Amino acid sequence: MKKIIAAAVFCWLLLVQLGAVELKPVKYVFLFIGDGTSYPQREAANRYLKATNAEPLFIDAMPFHRSTRTAAANNVVTDSAASGTAIACGSKTNKNMLGLAPDGSLLESCATLARKNGRKVGILTSVTLNNATPAAFYGHQDNRHNYYLLGTELVKSGFDYFAGGAVADAMPRSTARPDNIPALKQRIAALEAEIESCRKANARIDAGRQEARKTGDNAKFEAFQKEKKANSTRWKKAHDQLRYANQDLKTAENFVGNIMDYAKQNGFLTIFSRSRERISALKPGCGKVIAVGKTLSGPLQWEIDAAGDVQATSLAFLTAKGIELLDNQNGFFMMIEGGKIDWSCHGNDAGTMLREVLGFDDAVKVAADFAKRHPQDTLIVVTGDHETGGLCLPGTPEQLKNLGAQKHSADYFSRKLRQLKKEGGEDKLAKAKALVTKCFGLQFDGEGPMTMNADEKTALEGALLRALGEKSAIEVGFYDNAAAAIKAGKNPGAVFLATLLVSRKSGLEWGTQGHTALPVRTSAMGAQAEEFLAPGNLTEEQKKPYHTHDPKIEVPLPEIDNSDIGIRLKQVVAPLQI
Ligand SMILES: [Zn+2]
Repeated sequence: MKKIIAAAVFCWLLLVQLGAVELKPVKYVFLFIGDGTSYPQREAANRYLKATNAEPLFIDAMPFHRSTRTAAANNVVTDSAASGTAIACGSKTNKNMLGLAPDGSLLESCATLARKNGRKVGILTSVTLNNATPAAFYGHQDNRHNYYLLGTELVKSGFDYFAGGAVADAMPRSTARPDNIPALKQRIAALEAEIESCRKANARIDAGRQEARKTGDNAKFEAFQKEKKANSTRWKKAHDQLRYANQDLKTAENFVGNIMDYAKQNGFLTIFSRSRERISALKPGCGKVIAVGKTLSGPLQWEIDAAGDVQATSLAFLTAKGIELLDNQNGFFMMIEGGKIDWSCHGNDAGTMLREVLGFDDAVKVAADFAKRHPQDTLIVVTGDHETGGLCLPGTPEQLKNLGAQKHSADYFSRKLRQLKKEGGEDKLAKAKALVTKCFGLQFDGEGPMTMNADEKTALEGALLRALGEKSAIEVGFYDNAAAAIKAGKNPGAVFLATLLVSRKSGLEWGTQGHTALPVRTSAMGAQAEEFLAPGNLTEEQKKPYHTHDPKIEVPLPEIDNSDIGIRLKQVVAPLQI
């Protein structure tokens, strides 16, 4: 009897821990992650579509939605590593960490579990395949920037289909290769000695400082203060260098040659193609695949720059191919990341962000089409890992329409501008202005919604001249950030000004070029979609006295946590009860 009670209590505890949600296995599970995508990114895209009389955003028209908190274990503002880990593994960790708990213990992802359960697994992204979000599904590193090591883990995962950008750092830099191991070990020993010497110096300085304070010797006290500051700088520098040296050593000791060759040795078919043909030719039964939608390194092309290119290896195209390759009787798990939404928001590049959100939405539509054919067996979950840019929407729908005037990414503009600088010539400013109009739709003359006023024109022309290598001072600051930059003695760049002008004309404002703590929206459709998004219970953290909720009352929150997604994904990828 005791045993039965204990088992019942255990099950009850488990249920409480899982937010009282218990889900059955689902054959086809899609998880879409919009990196840096929260309410404002979705709302901006949706309002734009409505203003231009287009179909609304598909992901916002899905039947179930739930607000989702994103905080990392050590910071309320998270990053893609910590949030990716929470979504993939169902457990919070610190920023910068992948697939590991804060104490360094190994976490298992729902993708790894799905594979163990006999399912096929696909990992897709518009950025590089070993970037933080995709890597959270197969990697275990205390530093998300250990790209080479993540590349080795990608291969070892044995997942069936990787598609998107290339593998970053497919070869480590020369200092992190095996022939450098003796030198690295020497360097590490030297840095450790340096750190020890800094630690001793710090103790001596502290003692001296205390003595000086006791005796009231201000001059001596000040001298010690100065010395302490210099010692701290030296200490921190050695500490950082030691971290890098240890990373390099770890990479060198785990060296397996070029990652793409290593993948081939481990049975992967590898394809590099900027056009669709070779990837289209893949057929079910072709084995494990790494399909890079590029001929070289780096992420996929920006959606906005690929507009009209029917051969573009878009996320939607790669998703359709994934479904075809992964479909099997045991089902599959697919993670599809819109990684460049985050990148465009870091650049406060609104027109580019819009196209990335729409491209992401198109990929979800591909999964939804598949779900129509398998309505009982398909679950589609769409979420974001955090918000990026502090995007605000104070403008009108009429203003938002202007976002459509942008035709190229800030990246494209920047590249072309550098080219103009190289070419030189008398008419380079005229050419640069024409480039601004071509890329961003901003007009220097005439009257229209995208025509700049006199201040804006002066500021942008000044920035263009400087970008072209000419001397120019800006006389006006038309935007707070630009004004602050000028005040700090830094002239804002032409790319920065042009993107801010597009946002301004479109009624959008940005609060930061980093991440924010704003919750994201998770949406779902298909099998058990409503249950998947059921509210979560209060966490221990939320029961603490400072929280506004009464700590004695166990109420479900109207929202969920990003780690709830991971916990629930692990339930739906359980073996099918065939
Ligand atoms: Zn980011």
